[in-house]
Amino acid sequence: MSVEPSEKVEAKLSLEDYVKVLEAKLEQLVFENKSLEYKYNKLLMDVEKLQRQVEYYKSQIEKLITPPLIEATVIDVLKDGRVVVRSSTGPNLVVQALDSIDLSLLRPGARVALNQRGSAIVEALPESEDPLVKSMEVIERPSVKYSDVGGLSEQIMELREVIELPLKKPDLFKEIGVEPPKGILLYGPPGCGKTLLAKAVASEAEAAFISIVGSELVQKFIGEGARIVRELFQLARRKAPAIVFIDEVDSIASRRIDIGTSGEREVQRTLMQLLAEIDGFKPLDGVKIIAATNRVDILDPAILRPGRLDRLIEIPPPNPSGRVEIFKIHTKRMKLADDVDLGELAKVTEGLCGAEIKAICTEAGYFAIRSGRSVVSMSDFINAVKKTLAKRDVRGRPKEIEQSLLNVYQ
Ligand code: ATP
Repeated sequence: MSVEPSEKVEAKLSLEDYVKVLEAKLEQLVFENKSLEYKYNKLLMDVEKLQRQVEYYKSQIEKLITPPLIEATVIDVLKDGRVVVRSSTGPNLVVQALDSIDLSLLRPGARVALNQRGSAIVEALPESEDPLVKSMEVIERPSVKYSDVGGLSEQIMELREVIELPLKKPDLFKEIGVEPPKGILLYGPPGCGKTLLAKAVASEAEAAFISIVGSELVQKFIGEGARIVRELFQLARRKAPAIVFIDEVDSIASRRIDIGTSGEREVQRTLMQLLAEIDGFKPLDGVKIIAATNRVDILDPAILRPGRLDRLIEIPPPNPSGRVEIFKIHTKRMKLADDVDLGELAKVTEGLCGAEIKAICTEAGYFAIRSGRSVVSMSDFINAVKKTLAKRDVRGRPKEIEQSLLNVYQ
């Protein structure tokens, strides 16, 4: 039977339609598949979240049902392996230690946990960090390098010899028979890099940096300051090689004309402890002290005696080339316009310290951001210099900058 041409077209059309319907269905299925995948992943995430919650609640329940332990301090370890402890509840006890406990940790003075009956040591506790020393900062390895300190190359050289080298190569000093200083005193006006330098030495000597501000050692309670000093040095010995940095040392080591009040006697006691600690360690024991002050003139000579902080290093305000170096350091990561002249900036910042130069660089960056630019121009810096100088004037300090130089950029 022959097919008419019009019927052929109809048949073809319906096949095309059928394909279209199938394609639409396929699309629909692909879409449904995706949304199911999405739902599945979401459910998986919900399951994981719920599992985490279950784990958390389990651990909380475990904590609630575990009987409390008793804190105790080891007094002595007997030859038969038993341990004498002073429990925090009062009495001295002779107890056993669980086999799982590393006996080398049970030194006199170590903190341990006893089971609830107080009959056995079940855990050696970590050594406590003194909560009273809030401002004590411990940095295992500071990240500051000598190249981050501008304009103090002579001071860096001296510090390398008297602090870095003895910490890194004590044997060299033992062999030659030279005793390096136990500590040094950095003195100079605020914000010129004393703390920065001390951190850089610790970093380059691969030593821990333990710092405290002297005024924190002036405590309300009798004996507290001395105790903190003792613990500061205990910590330093544990972390050796270490640098103990005491900022504002004048607050505990200033010369006293008469020790009248009990507060002054307490400060004196803290100083005595500090001197005893300095006298108590050897120059090559892996601990060095760097003290810093803005008031070297009022220091008690006792702390500067030979064998104590007998090396004095001045950290003066930066000179013009020092200021250029400091500007370079603090603009290292900034995008500077071609007109920025660091030499010129060094000229107009006569008398400013490193911290102020750093503040100028940050402020200049803000000026650029406020004007919607990512490149910092000379006028941003000049505005920042003006702002910093205005702050100085508020603080009542003499204006040492030649205004005429600033006017050039107005
Ligand atoms: P203070 O006597 O007030 O404790 P300081 O002399 O210890 O002051 P730092 O705390 O070291 O001063 O300086 C503050 C900040 O200023 C540093 O973190 C650093 O960013 C910057 N700064 C100071 N001096 C320099 C410098 N010479 N080179 C580079 N940056 C410096």
